[in-house]
Amino acid sequence: MAWVETMIKKLCVFCGSSPYTDPKYHATAEELAKLMVSNGIGLVYGGSNIGTMKVIADCVLNAGGEAVGIMPQILVDKEIAHPRLTELHIVDSMHARKALMAELSDGFIALPGGIGTLEELFEILAWALLEIHKKPCGVLNAHQYYQKLIDFLNHAAAEHFIKEEHHSILIMEEDPEILLERMNGYRAPKVRKWTGKK
Ligand code: AMP
Repeated sequence: MAWVETMIKKLCVFCGSSPYTDPKYHATAEELAKLMVSNGIGLVYGGSNIGTMKVIADCVLNAGGEAVGIMPQILVDKEIAHPRLTELHIVDSMHARKALMAELSDGFIALPGGIGTLEELFEILAWALLEIHKKPCGVLNAHQYYQKLIDFLNHAAAEHFIKEEHHSILIMEEDPEILLERMNGYRAPKVRKWTGKK
């Protein structure tokens, strides 16, 4: 499905670098990639040529879309940069990588991934909660990979370690099309400051 107009022109996708995951997760990455290209949305990602990161970049490029990679020099050798990207930015540090990913993108999605993916998702989410940016943050709960994390976030909110607004700030869906549609319609809520009162 193509939308008439998308607010998101560049989407940052955080996802796993592991080559050993179930192919069912690759299928979801491909579905998201095709949806992005058919709606004129470019990919911004970590720039690797392994795991789900390779799958989404390959699929975007093969469908005629644009894929921009951002890698710190220390990872260019370790993870192997994708050789066919529209653009590859080589930066000085992991911090610079995330800062540039945030700057170049209109929204962020975490596909299934490991520690790197979680770290990237939570940093960008923390920046949304602090109103450092007002861009939509989503989790693609493919095959319910993130269900235990979502349950934990609900628990943390019930225990008042996370404000209720996290529910509207972090958009969580199992279907890529529904997730992208919700992200397109996202308007950043006003985040309350802790006041000392409940
Ligand atoms: P993973 O989800 O662990 O497979 O990692 C996905 C991507 O995140 C890989 O490109 C990792 O190198 C990257 N990564 C891991 N830690 C960080 C970090 N602190 N900042 C930026 N990228 C990271």
